[in-house]
Amino acid sequence: MEDKELIQITLGLLSPWFVKDIDLNTSKRRMDIYLDFSKGTKFSCPVCNKLSELHDTKKKVWRHLDFFHYETYLHARVPRTKCNEHGVKLVNVPWTRQNTGFTLFFEALIVAISKEMTVSAIAEMINIHEDSVWRILTHYVNKAAAKMDLSGLDTIGVDEISVKKGHSYVTLFYDLNKSRIIHIENGKKRSVFKKFREYLSKKIDPDNIKYISMDMYPAFKGGAREYFPNAKIVYDKFHIVKMMNDAIDKVRRSEYQSNKDLGKTRFMWLKNPENLSDREIAKIQSIKDLDTKTAKAYKFKLALQRLWEIKNMDVAREYIEKWHYWGTHSNIKEVITLAKMIKRNSHGILESIKGNISNGVVEGLNNKIKTAFKRSYGLKTEVYRNKMIFLMAGKLSLPTRC
Ligand SMILES: [Zn+2]
Repeated sequence: MEDKELIQITLGLLSPWFVKDIDLNTSKRRMDIYLDFSKGTKFSCPVCNKLSELHDTKKKVWRHLDFFHYETYLHARVPRTKCNEHGVKLVNVPWTRQNTGFTLFFEALIVAISKEMTVSAIAEMINIHEDSVWRILTHYVNKAAAKMDLSGLDTIGVDEISVKKGHSYVTLFYDLNKSRIIHIENGKKRSVFKKFREYLSKKIDPDNIKYISMDMYPAFKGGAREYFPNAKIVYDKFHIVKMMNDAIDKVRRSEYQSNKDLGKTRFMWLKNPENLSDREIAKIQSIKDLDTKTAKAYKFKLALQRLWEIKNMDVAREYIEKWHYWGTHSNIKEVITLAKMIKRNSHGILESIKGNISNGVVEGLNNKIKTAFKRSYGLKTEVYRNKMIFLMAGKLSLPTRC
């Protein structure tokens, strides 16, 4: 087999395109492949697809996948058609999209490795500018996000995460049934729900949303009520337990002032008993024996978690009443506050049990997103940050040509 034929096959080039010449430069470790088209070929206008007269050609070059350790470039004179209706246009060629200096194979490689590597590492490995990597990712993420199918969407999760080391927030909207991010808004005011509704209404009827699962943050509650009046607000186990954990930690920190045994135990109280090591169990036991408020608050958490094991709504309602009663009589300020809050919002909690709705999947996605943040660290542009979030947690259909 001739070299040109081999390259032609591996590139998947079809008539009228063919490999005209190959230049291998061993000192520069570079391969240049020159493509051309058969004489007399007519091309379609890229706008209306009508076969049109050839106007002229433009020389272009694209970076392609490396040939072993040789950087490889494709060259071609790209035809410009003269359509009666659309005038002079550069035609579409099969190995690339318009206005990029890379082949589709090359871009697909970038997209694939971007889930595992930082953008700067990719740029360095492949020897292209970081901005080029971001431009490629932005193109494919935008395209896939625009095509995201939201039909059947009815259960939403909402969560805010801090960015820029806690100085500002973004609100993330999740499709809880498909475990994916579907929308991102800056800030965590109630108006993020207005913008989310505007976004949704381009794709589906926003009134199809039946449940919105969130934490007890007043701006979210207000936003959901105002912009999704048909949806039920749900407070799921994940968020409630998180509030309980925060309460335990507050109790522990204030109690630590007079009881140094509580030092370095913060993470122990976050766990369930079955996940504690033998050493931790012994430690918890000794702290319980000291009759600490922290150990008591922990017991309240264990009791609260059992609520989600109850499937009968009347029993669950009663259980909340009981828990609230003991909580408000606990003599622990933080538990009392939480007990009142839980009682006040018990309707949304019961909805989470009834609808079996949990933001649990969000935790996994949020970990992925945190990784993504580390990857885009140093970039001020929030545009790129959002691309990375979608790339990691949007379950997008991205190109897989390589
Ligand atoms: Zn045309």
